[in-house]
Amino acid sequence: MEYLQNLEKANADRVQLRDAGFSYENRTLKTITVTNGDGRTDKNVIFVDATFHGREWLPPHAAVYLVEQLVSNFKENMDLLKDYDWIILPLVNPDGYVHSYTFNNMWRFNRKPSRNGYIGTDLNRNFGFQWGRLDGSSRNPRSELFAGNAPFSEPESRIVRDIMHDLVVSGRGIMYITLHSYMNAILYSYDYTNRVFPKNMLNLSQVAHAGANAVIAKGGDLKAIYESYEASGTSQDYAYCVGFPLVFTFELPGNDFWPKKTKIDGFVKESWTAIRAMAKKAMELYPLGTKIPKFKGKFYLNMNDKCINY
Ligand SMILES: [Zn+2]
Repeated sequence: MEYLQNLEKANADRVQLRDAGFSYENRTLKTITVTNGDGRTDKNVIFVDATFHGREWLPPHAAVYLVEQLVSNFKENMDLLKDYDWIILPLVNPDGYVHSYTFNNMWRFNRKPSRNGYIGTDLNRNFGFQWGRLDGSSRNPRSELFAGNAPFSEPESRIVRDIMHDLVVSGRGIMYITLHSYMNAILYSYDYTNRVFPKNMLNLSQVAHAGANAVIAKGGDLKAIYESYEASGTSQDYAYCVGFPLVFTFELPGNDFWPKKTKIDGFVKESWTAIRAMAKKAMELYPLGTKIPKFKGKFYLNMNDKCINY
């Protein structure tokens, strides 16, 4: 946070920190908006968040490295800020993250009590679309995939939801990337089922493969795959359903949840290579002015609601 505050001070025309809301334990969830400083307010937006799951220690580093590249390495990355702004939320679940490194490094949930004395909800099962399906999450607070007592029962998932809503209402939200670890793969929608295919599947596949291929071209290893496991009530599916045409879960590299310090630099650089290539492809497919169908009616809260038809 100190690093980000200094970055904002030194680059006030291009970096803006905002308090997006508070976690259950009252920690501030901060977003960083990065622009090229030209003052235009109609640009498309790439929204990147990280650290839904407390025990995943690499994603916040990858998110901050991404901010650094866009801001401090501006000359080299100006092309990524011409018609697009970026919004980055490095810590969706600060309470779970702190709990993971202070008490229990396997901790995945947030820290809000649910019921029957249990603590925590899987924030990436707490989103409204297809919430609580038994084939991709659980209604049992003892489960590793507990979806919460209700859709958006948790303050942290509501904060992410509200950022998404702002961006689709203003028609600016084009790409959403959520950073998790560890699997070394870029996954694309849908999360909740393998039996329904997004209408713009080809575009999703092109962007995911652009990311994977950029890493492979540098001698690395990264897969781009259509969702291979069922997960319902996720942020990725929700973003897609309310209006982001490009949505991805980026499972960062690693052999466990807690990368050695000496490995972090290589991992975040590789992640950046992928994200940069994904952004370039997104900008090619969705140039400024592309008409995105507007979500009509209430935002999704029920299991059987249908997504936008792209
Ligand atoms: Zn995760």
